[in-house]
Amino acid sequence: MKIFLTGGAGYIGSVTSELLLDSGHEVVVFDNLERGHAEALDPRARFVRGDLRERGQILDALAAARPDAVMHFAAYALVGESMQDPQLYFRNNVAGGVNLLDAALKQKVRKFIFSSTCATYGVPDRVPMTEETPQRPANPYGESKLMFEKILLWAERLHGIEPVFLRYFNACGATEKLGEDHEPETHLIPNVLRAALGRQEAVQVFGDDYDTPDGTCVRDYIHIVDLAQAHMLALREGVSGAFNLGNGEGFSVRQVIEAAREVTGRPIPVRMAPRRPGDPPRLVAAARKAAAALGWKPKHPDLRTILRHAWAWHQAHPSGYAS
Ligand code: UDP
Repeated sequence: MKIFLTGGAGYIGSVTSELLLDSGHEVVVFDNLERGHAEALDPRARFVRGDLRERGQILDALAAARPDAVMHFAAYALVGESMQDPQLYFRNNVAGGVNLLDAALKQKVRKFIFSSTCATYGVPDRVPMTEETPQRPANPYGESKLMFEKILLWAERLHGIEPVFLRYFNACGATEKLGEDHEPETHLIPNVLRAALGRQEAVQVFGDDYDTPDGTCVRDYIHIVDLAQAHMLALREGVSGAFNLGNGEGFSVRQVIEAAREVTGRPIPVRMAPRRPGDPPRLVAAARKAAAALGWKPKHPDLRTILRHAWAWHQAHPSGYAS
């Protein structure tokens, strides 16, 4: 198939492009390179530099591509930043998304696969979380993703498109060529590995007084190759709706650091820090729906394998893509 993929220079978008191309699909990447990396673009894909907020740019790009499906990764994704500047998030993630949807409808593209997030659920009453867990976002980032899910549901009802919402839990890991490189880096695993490399003195632990077994927050870490695989499975005709993507197993911040010490053989010093505003204590997926409806089965569910892949990439790219 021919896939029009926004955000293909970003972490999850670049890995999905790679997997699609490896499987023989044709890919057109649309990205503004604001937060992504030109080095992460796959040379086999056609690249269009453009910004979703510029309506003319996305209308033209989609008209030229005439794809069979859209995969929409391009977005801002930092919870803390969204609390500081919510409009930034609504403009890019919602208004930019509407421009993309207009362009897709104009070209009669039916399949629209959207990068959603467990942040649309906010602080859940219980874990693991199914797709029926009430969606009550606790920050503008999660709200912007939920708003766009709803916009796509109306497009399904009124225009007959086939939207798929893939609600990611904690994306991590790497392929041989592609890994995680954000500036500033706010995510746990890359920060742990930066500390292992000596790029930062210690890894901060944001709070150890949560109501969890060791007091630190629990998350469901899912390999990006497994996330990318779910996008390919969602291309099948007739697939629509929401799917949680996680391994169904939670690890605390302390457990992740301990596992990283084993995998890297480095000490990884820790510094205690206050809670980070907006962090829910536990987020763990029930991903049975993705297994049943998509036939999705994560290939790399083991945390140590995930850390080993991420560590290999960080060692090969000690300063990220700038290395
Ligand atoms: N975290 C931490 N130190 C860091 C980065 C993250 O203790 O340097 C914690 C964070 O508070 C959360 C968990 O690790 O409880 C996962 O955070 P991350 O930003 O990786 O993903 P999120 O779950 O926020 O999407």
